[in-house]
Order: sequence, then structure tokens, then C-alpha cells
Amino acid sequence: MLLANATLDDGSIVDVMVDGPRIASVEPAGSGRYPPGHDVHDLAGRLLLPAPAEAHTHLDKALTVDRVPNPAGDLAGAIEAWSAHRPTITTADYVARATTAAELLSANGCTAIRTHVDLGPDVGTTGLEAMLEVKASLAGRLELQVVGLVNGVTGPGGDRQLALLRAALDLGLDVVGGVPHVEAEPAAAIDHVLDLAGTYGRPLDLHADENLDPSSIDLEVLADRVIATGFEPPVVASHCVALGMMDERRQAHLAERSAEAGISVVTLPLTNLYLQARHHPVAPPRGLTAVDALDRAGVTVAAGADNIRDPFCPVGRADPLETAALLVTAAHRTIDQAYRSVSAAARATLGLEPVEIGPGRPAELMALVAADIAEAVAAAPPGRLVIHRGRIVSGT
Ligand SMILES: [Zn+2]
Repeated sequence: MLLANATLDDGSIVDVMVDGPRIASVEPAGSGRYPPGHDVHDLAGRLLLPAPAEAHTHLDKALTVDRVPNPAGDLAGAIEAWSAHRPTITTADYVARATTAAELLSANGCTAIRTHVDLGPDVGTTGLEAMLEVKASLAGRLELQVVGLVNGVTGPGGDRQLALLRAALDLGLDVVGGVPHVEAEPAAAIDHVLDLAGTYGRPLDLHADENLDPSSIDLEVLADRVIATGFEPPVVASHCVALGMMDERRQAHLAERSAEAGISVVTLPLTNLYLQARHHPVAPPRGLTAVDALDRAGVTVAAGADNIRDPFCPVGRADPLETAALLVTAAHRTIDQAYRSVSAAARATLGLEPVEIGPGRPAELMALVAADIAEAVAAAPPGRLVIHRGRIVSGT
């Protein structure tokens, strides 16, 4: 396939030859040295970018805001409302909503998505089985990774929760998850899930320190344990809201420990701006992690949408460019940093091969009507052409 007359972010106009799942060549437009018989798609000057990826979402919860209200508007209210509702969800409902939300993300450019899915005594592995069904049905269009979200692995019923996580891993769960900060014993919970992930050789992705308490310990304990155990698979700490509330010395220390441990951090501006700081009538904190300190230490900082129109966040366009724009305004990232957080850094967080527009790179691409990345992030234009594994999967 030849993508002709594509504009790159530096303003050059090129022809991009795609061979199978990879980019074969990038030549000045019209140089014309291409073998006959390939499909030609004239991009007519549209901007061509490395495809975004969604580093953290919850497809099992998506698109339920109309039936699961959260009047308090905070995290505790969302958890309470969701916990009451989730035992009533059928497999068909999980599959339908998750497919719709994943297709929205795909149409907006994502060729890889990591979703968390609830596991619990009231729902068992129903949500996971539904997500695995969605993963199989969308396999040609995007890569879906499924994280098992459990809490209560310490305290009463902890053994049952760990058994459920094991059952989920046996069913094909991709990544081990958890929420240490709501556990009876956060440090012990981190030990349990790290141990289990190590036994199965799977990555770990935790909801860490999703609160405004500067004495939170999830990230510190996680980094300590990863370093002490030599844990090999990729580790992600999602949220890390509390890090943004700590003093600069402590931020720098934890950022350096995270870098040493090889932990990536995912910040979730849309949902955390909504859920956090409800009880701060004066100068409310933004609820975002310390992106600059993490950057300085060399930690990979990705960003995601988290919740899409559910009790945890009633809005959301399932658009990585929406997330990128929020990073610019709420986290003071530059436009280029913001786009990197939802593309290259997001893919790195998911353990996927890097994308850039060059020979030999994976053909994971998005084309849209914009002059450059700055206009793409600012205007978030619709009508995107999305290419996954060298095939057009959305748009024309
Ligand atoms: Zn989440």
C-alpha cells in the first residue's frame, strides 16, 4: 500500500510505502520509484502521525452514566454506585458497550488499548470473559490488553480474591492489576500481586495512590519491591495522584526510585480532574501526578482517558487528542510532550514496539486534516484515517 502525499509534522510532503505490517520506505512525494500493483491512497496533504494508543481505560464500565448516577461526584461515590450496579450486568451488555467504546477509540486513532476489568466475588470473571470476547472480535482492528482489577487481596476474603486472579490468569488475562491504596494492608497487597505476576510472567499495572494524601505509599513500596525482587516484566503505576501533592524533594526521590525500578507512570487527566479535590472549595489541587519530576528522572509518562461516560467520569470523547489537550492545559505539557504521552509513551507503557514514520517501523498510523501536531491536538479534527498492522481499519 502506498500512502501518497502525506504531510509530516516537519512540513515535508512524502510518499509512505507500507509492506505488510511495516513501513517499507518514506520518500519525497512523487519520486515514483514504486513497484506496480500496489494500492494507492492519496492523502492529499493530510497530516500523517504515529498512531496513538489508549494506555488506561475501563471498557467494562464505559457508557453507563445514564443508568449509574454518582451524585457525590468523587471516587468513593463512583465506587459505591458502581459496586451496587455491576452484579446486574450481563455478558451481552459488557460486550456491546465495550465494543462501542473500543470502536470509538479506534475511529479516533488508537490501534492499541489497555483496559482494566473488574474481578470480584459478585461478578467472578464475567467481565473478563466478555473483554476477551471483544479482544478476539476486534483483533484485526486493534490490539487489546486486559488488566485484572481486584481489590481486597488483603483482609477477610483476600485468599478468595487471589484465587480469582489466578483463575483470570488461567483464562488469558494479560496483565495483573490492583488498587493498593484501598486495601487493608497496601504494602502486603503489592507483595501479593507482584508475586502472582512474577509466577505467571505477566506485567503489572496498579491503580496507585489515587488520592490527594501526600503520605500515600503505593508508588514507594512498589518501586522498593520491584528493585528488591528484580521483577522483570513491565510495571506501570497508574494515577499516582498523591505524588503531585508531595514536596519537591520527595517527588524527586520517588521519581528517581521509579526510574531505577523501570516503572512507567500513566496520568489520567480527564477522570482525575473530575473525581479529585471535591472537598477543596479554595484553590483545589488538579489531581494530576508530578509529571515534570517524573520527566526529569527519566520515567516514561503516558496518559490515558480512564473512564468514558460512567459514574467515574460523565464525559469523555474516547479521543487521545482530548487527553493530549488536557495535558497541555492542566499539566502544562508542551504540545509535543502531550502527543508523545498518548502515542510513543503510551505504546512503551503497553510494552509495544515504538512507532515513528520511518523504514522498518510498524505501520501503526493516523492521518487527519491538520497542518501539524499543534493543530491536530488543538482542533481534534474528525474523519481520521487509521492504519493498524499495515491495513486501513477506520476512515477512508
Ligand atoms: Zn482506572
